[in-house]
Amino acid sequence: MERVFNFSAGPSMLPETVLKKAARELLNYNNTGQSVMEMSHRSTEFKNILVKTKTLLREVMNIPENYKVLFLQGGASSQFAMVPLNLMTKNNKSDYVITGNWATKAYLEATNFGNCNIIASSKDKNFSYIPDLNSEAFSKDADYVHICLNNTIYGTKFNKIPDTKDIPLIADISSCILSEPIDVSKFGLLYAGAQKNLAPAGLTIVIIREDLIGNPMSFTPTMFNYKVHASSDSLYNTPPCYNIYMCMLVLEWIKNEMGGLENMKKVNYKKAKLIYNYLDSSKLFHGFAEPKDRSIMNVVFSTLSDKLDKQFISKAKNFNIININGHRKIGGMRASIYNAMPIEGVMSLVEFMEKFEKNI
Ligand SMILES: *Cc1c(COP(=O)(O)O)cnc(C)c1O
Repeated sequence: MERVFNFSAGPSMLPETVLKKAARELLNYNNTGQSVMEMSHRSTEFKNILVKTKTLLREVMNIPENYKVLFLQGGASSQFAMVPLNLMTKNNKSDYVITGNWATKAYLEATNFGNCNIIASSKDKNFSYIPDLNSEAFSKDADYVHICLNNTIYGTKFNKIPDTKDIPLIADISSCILSEPIDVSKFGLLYAGAQKNLAPAGLTIVIIREDLIGNPMSFTPTMFNYKVHASSDSLYNTPPCYNIYMCMLVLEWIKNEMGGLENMKKVNYKKAKLIYNYLDSSKLFHGFAEPKDRSIMNVVFSTLSDKLDKQFISKAKNFNIININGHRKIGGMRASIYNAMPIEGVMSLVEFMEKFEKNI
């Protein structure tokens, strides 16, 4: 069977050249006579993979010297606890901006460990926009401010990074990491589960400013302590070795084939525009997010009729378009168009939307 255009929000598509390379190297990596899956994580060969992946991520994302990159497990969801355990330790206070499901989960987890304030929320309009944040919004004694940069379920993103001055800004970038350049120096910590834009599920990336490491709550489990992972170079225990290798291949693809993040951004805006332009001209389909806050990774839309939405989702399969259904929280459709979704996939989707609209 032909490869499908998989619009899933995650796990999602990986670049075909990456999958082919991984397949070629599956049984015999770099003339070692073994698969990366079978290798000791203490072997020189694997350590080279780890160093290379880290170096590539630093280079592609332009991560400043005073930040550490950690390769962890447990998904973005574990970071919902790890962030407060390690960082909510000066005044035991933090600020959260509620822009959707993931931001809410992060907030609820943090309330187990201290005083968390909701300083802004877009719940009043079902998370269809990003609330304004001026500098007065933040609590002066907050240990950090947490945002979810791209809201995967609702298809919104912060198009402007809030200026929190001296308060460290923490962001969940699970669904937008590597989609465009980001000024890492504006953040205290960034985290992302890998399964949207980086690698298969099972790897979690944390990028943390060095001065924020090393002051966790006394009862923090060893595996939840950033210092433990930072001082052992992500080799405190067995890391997700194969996923790190896949991440390396994806980073090589971004650097060598896609021309780095500046170009990745151009491609991603082009793809997103194709769908948004059609939505804006369509009489049948309606975009969900406020235009000024639109995500370039997750495009959420519907016909406003459950029956037609269901028909659309079901007929899409005939066009090789799968997983186009919206999240169960809001229904309708969602096209997740991460880095690995080829522009041909987006063109097929728009063509199908036009056909569907003409024929109902
Ligand atoms: C998918 C997603 C998560 C959940 O990630 P897990 O790795 O499954 O824990 C959290 N935040 C955002 C923004 C996501 O898109």
